[in-house]
Amino acid sequence: MSTITERLKQHRDLPDEDLLRLLEGQEEETLIAEGDKVRRENYGDAVYVRGLIEFSSFCRNDCYYCGIRRSNRKADRYRLDRETILSCCREGYGLGYRTFVLQGGEDPYYTDQVLTGIVEAIHREFPDCAITLSAGERTTESYRKLFEAGARRYLLRHEAADPDLYRMLHPAGMRLDNRIRCLRDLKEIGYQVGSGFMVGAPGQTGEHLIRDIRFLQELEPDMIGIGPYLRHENTPFRDREDGSMQLTLRLIAILRLIFPWALIPSTTALGTIHPSGRELGLQAGANVVMPNLSPVEVREKYELYDNKICTGEESAQCRSCLEARVFAAGYRIVTDIGDVKKNRASGHDL
Ligand code: SAH
Repeated sequence: MSTITERLKQHRDLPDEDLLRLLEGQEEETLIAEGDKVRRENYGDAVYVRGLIEFSSFCRNDCYYCGIRRSNRKADRYRLDRETILSCCREGYGLGYRTFVLQGGEDPYYTDQVLTGIVEAIHREFPDCAITLSAGERTTESYRKLFEAGARRYLLRHEAADPDLYRMLHPAGMRLDNRIRCLRDLKEIGYQVGSGFMVGAPGQTGEHLIRDIRFLQELEPDMIGIGPYLRHENTPFRDREDGSMQLTLRLIAILRLIFPWALIPSTTALGTIHPSGRELGLQAGANVVMPNLSPVEVREKYELYDNKICTGEESAQCRSCLEARVFAAGYRIVTDIGDVKKNRASGHDL
């Protein structure tokens, strides 16, 4: 008799009821050990670093879970101009980072012209670096212009593949079908695409998570970002319980077995819910970390959830702290550009 985990590893898929058993905690130790094993088979002990620049905390959206939602009048807002972003990149380059992730709220200040200008400037000065954007939903044309300007990766979590859950987490103006349209556009244009969701979001059930997994199987993203939902005091969900670290770890391992080649970050939210969360994420199959490169004076303002870590340190401290953690967990930081190694669908190197 083979275990559920073995069958998942072998077939890279399972019927819903078996996935649900794993989500509920059956075979947890085996599952997590296999997550690590498969990641080592494909990526060895390499952990890729991406310097994260949180470029704006203004947002036109009003996601019920997010601390920088439009209706949070208490949020202290900021946006970074091109020069400030470039100086973050310079600092990151000096620290060895070869990928810059520009993440922000959906801030109308960053029109196509402004954002392509920023991407072009980074691309010109750092031609050996990858530029990743995480700037929310934009038009097809906008994604195309940003690609032409030099962006090659885009992170856009689908957040919830179940339409009812999506509606519970977002106000009426936000639509799951537009989010999916964006993800398809991005793939079509040629971006390496990252998607994902929060674990333990208010109202989320095991069945919802199965739908998220099924959605990812269809999309076949190169990168998959997940982290526990964490409350923020100035959101409508302030009284809802945080997500669970264990469930997040199980999901990382499940995703690693289904997507052996995926780039899976061990997220800041995981490091916030537990002091060793990011190390445990790596040991469950994650292979990316994203140290903060934002200017220290703005970090506390990019507060998606309460008690977010890494808000007080200089970028250099973030780097050495993460390096020590990665090493202690049994891995090694790699500073190359870190493209996804293989595309599962085609089996070819990208
Ligand atoms: N505006 C961009 C970036 C969003 S912030 C976009 O729409 O893609 C990045 C991610 O943080 C979100 O996709 C969401 O999944 C996560 N996030 C937001 N609020 C959170 C919370 N309270 N707890 C945990 N994760 C959260």
